[in-house]
Amino acid sequence: NLSDRLSDTFKSLRGKGKLSAADIDETLRDIRRALLEADVALEVVKTFTGKVRERALGDEVSKALNPAQQVVQIVNDELKAILGGEARKLAFAKNPPTVIMLAGLQGSGKTTLAGKLAKWLKEQNHTPLLVAADLQRPNAVTQLQVLGEKVGVPVFAPEAGNGTGDPVKVSRDAIDFAKKSQYSVVIVDTAGRLGVDQEMMQQASDIRDAVSPDEILFVVDSMLGQDAVNVAKAFHDGVGVSGVVLTKLDGDSRGGAALSVATVTGAPILFSSTGEGLDAFEPFYPDRMASRILDMGDILSLIEQAQKNFDEEESKRLAEKLATEQFTLQDFLEQMQQLKRMGSMKNLLGMLPGIAQAKRQLEEFDEREITRTEAIIYSMTPLERNQPKVLNGSRRMRIAKGSGTSVTEVNQLIQRFEQASKVMKTMARGGVPNIPGTNPV
Ligand code: GDP
Ligand code: MG
Repeated sequence: NLSDRLSDTFKSLRGKGKLSAADIDETLRDIRRALLEADVALEVVKTFTGKVRERALGDEVSKALNPAQQVVQIVNDELKAILGGEARKLAFAKNPPTVIMLAGLQGSGKTTLAGKLAKWLKEQNHTPLLVAADLQRPNAVTQLQVLGEKVGVPVFAPEAGNGTGDPVKVSRDAIDFAKKSQYSVVIVDTAGRLGVDQEMMQQASDIRDAVSPDEILFVVDSMLGQDAVNVAKAFHDGVGVSGVVLTKLDGDSRGGAALSVATVTGAPILFSSTGEGLDAFEPFYPDRMASRILDMGDILSLIEQAQKNFDEEESKRLAEKLATEQFTLQDFLEQMQQLKRMGSMKNLLGMLPGIAQAKRQLEEFDEREITRTEAIIYSMTPLERNQPKVLNGSRRMRIAKGSGTSVTEVNQLIQRFEQASKVMKTMARGGVPNIPGTNPV
């Protein structure tokens, strides 16, 4: 897979200055192949890698990552952005009913999705109405009625049943009925064909004009592969697409269709369908799909690891400094900021070997305390930061005023610093720190 292929490129040393065109192109060659293997359409692959290349060319080389890793990170970010960034929610009408129209090829999973959506909406206290506007297939109406019964949602259908009536009229009547009966959401299931054809597109756009949908969900089988581009284009041009639903993600497709469809329609992917059962339905997660398409779970964890190693190196640098007994408040500040950057103290604690003993003690610091600590240290002069011994009473008072804290808080900080610096010194020498009130593990 891509991870194996890139592993050589990853061995290259960290670069300097800007990412070079050669670095970028080498990595993009592998990315391009991986995208094609995932069945992303060729034209989409070209547009995509072109965009990534442009963005990567201007980038400063990261301190933590090598160029190949950095390019992969850009690829991943771009992928997520195209696939929808933060997943968009269903758009509801200001004045109910909200009308959701489902469109897509036959067998893409529209009718199944209609049932899933109805169930999901009902669970959120909406009152959905299902509309059988597929009057093409012999059992389409019955199929929807069975689903409606299962989820306890009524189905609006032509009286004569399967294969009869005018789908446009049925859809229009359904909206009138929903208004009168105060349904909050109307889900219109439409007919598809095995391939794109003019008559189907015409019918779909007639239904669209009759019901003025708030959402036109393009339902697409994720196994569709290269063909996804043409199908998406046809629906985008012929009917219009406000959102995409990817079905059959439980299959073993790599999901390249997701990228193709999102690129062509410019519409966000709202949901994924992951099985035939009515609960096999969830919001779409762009980051999961990005990893699936690139098959790069390993690579992303490599990148994470690289960033972590970078932080570890910083920690090591600090530890070495401690060993030479020059740990200053400036270092303390940097350490705090590193902790803050990493989101949680526990992360760092987990990374430092042998710190378990000090953990409880250090866990007393919380985020706000880090912010306060920053304020206090910022109010110190370089001399005070580097030689805390000079911090007499009047200096402490000045610092408290400058940082908007109290002398007690300044005192506490200095005390903490001294404690931490003692712990760190012991650890740097490879010993076990002796902290009152804690037991060695
Ligand atoms: P429609 O022609 O677009 O209405 O498609 P259907 O809803 O009738 O679905 C076609 C077939 O695909 C049915 O056998 C469904 O059970 C199946 N199906 C639909 N969605 C999924 C899915 O997410 N995963 C799997 N494995 N099968 C699905
Ligand atoms: Mg159907």
